[in-house]
Amino acid sequence: MAKKKSSSKKSSIRDRMKDRQRKQSEAASTRGGSGRGIFDFSKLEDDREISFYKPPKKGKSTFDIIPFEVTEEYYAKALDPDGTTTDAEVGVVETGMIYAMHFGVGPENKTVLCLAKTFGKPCPICEAAASLSDDEKKALKPKFRGAFSILDKDNEEAGVQIFDHSFFGFAESFNKEVRDLAKDGEEIYPADPEDGMSVKVRWTTKSFPGGEFTSADRIDFVERDEQPGLDIMDQGFPFDKLLKIPTYQEVEKLFLGLDDDDIDSSSDGSDEDDIPVDVGKDKGKKKTTAKKKTKKKQECPEGLEFGVDFDEYNECDDCVVRDDCQAAAPNTDDDKDEPKELVCPEDDGEIGKDFDQYNECEDCDFYDECEEMHKEIKKRKARKGKK
Ligand SMILES: [Zn+2]
Repeated sequence: MAKKKSSSKKSSIRDRMKDRQRKQSEAASTRGGSGRGIFDFSKLEDDREISFYKPPKKGKSTFDIIPFEVTEEYYAKALDPDGTTTDAEVGVVETGMIYAMHFGVGPENKTVLCLAKTFGKPCPICEAAASLSDDEKKALKPKFRGAFSILDKDNEEAGVQIFDHSFFGFAESFNKEVRDLAKDGEEIYPADPEDGMSVKVRWTTKSFPGGEFTSADRIDFVERDEQPGLDIMDQGFPFDKLLKIPTYQEVEKLFLGLDDDDIDSSSDGSDEDDIPVDVGKDKGKKKTTAKKKTKKKQECPEGLEFGVDFDEYNECDDCVVRDDCQAAAPNTDDDKDEPKELVCPEDDGEIGKDFDQYNECEDCDFYDECEEMHKEIKKRKARKGKK
């Protein structure tokens, strides 16, 4: 589909971003995992180099988000993380693209789009998960991600890069900031190429058994020295166009590790409509049961009880296994608006742990919270000691 040339009115960009930014920022929270390979860059009309932006593990970074113009009709029917359709028709200008993925799929540990969470269509993996044990269910749970085109203000020579990150690690906080400002009567459009703002993020990285998780713990919007201008959008990534969207059968094939011969092309479950089809080639080993899943047993990275202590501690807010822990916990509220993670303004200080250890503590904005956490940690230690 041909890309519509942006008509160069600021108001028109703003108008085309407006409803979507508001809706996207209000979409309920969901969380992420890690991985890429979900976009097909051969669909780009030019042969530019593809560069991925990686946020620092700790410290600050500043970037401009370059929006993209929706060019694919299917996109209006895609879902925001709150399960409502984007309703973003061709021509609407989007800040970024949110989608849901299954990780570690099938015998070959593939990454594949979740048709259920991304489109509300039948997804063979989600379907299979429904009949599995809790542990297996958790491992199969899709993770939301957010993809953005960004211009790194500390490395502009790199050009427009792709910032594809767990939804919880960035997009959710970004949306929340925008939403909160709007609530206070300050409606801003950070991604507006002509009148937007730079995004300044303070990052934190948490380790957990088997990996680490980098997330934005503070986001500020700062005036741009110079606006990139509408033309920059030509260098942005049209994520709706690039997204690899497999059919039901293709997902099933990856999941079960089936050979092509095993696929019954007449099998149903796929409602393809106008959703384009694209799947990576892959050769699979034979496997006939849906119970193929290779993920280790989950543990709480904080040493608490997985599936029991869900949301009981501040650490739970940005926990990498939060989703899974929640799924394992009985009767929890899925759409809870979680508090923002707090970070000690002292470079090596840790909220809760280093309570009142520095001279600066007295004037710290987080003094009370820090004290609360300090008590919590002490409580937890005592509890752990008892066990
Ligand atoms: Zn799914």
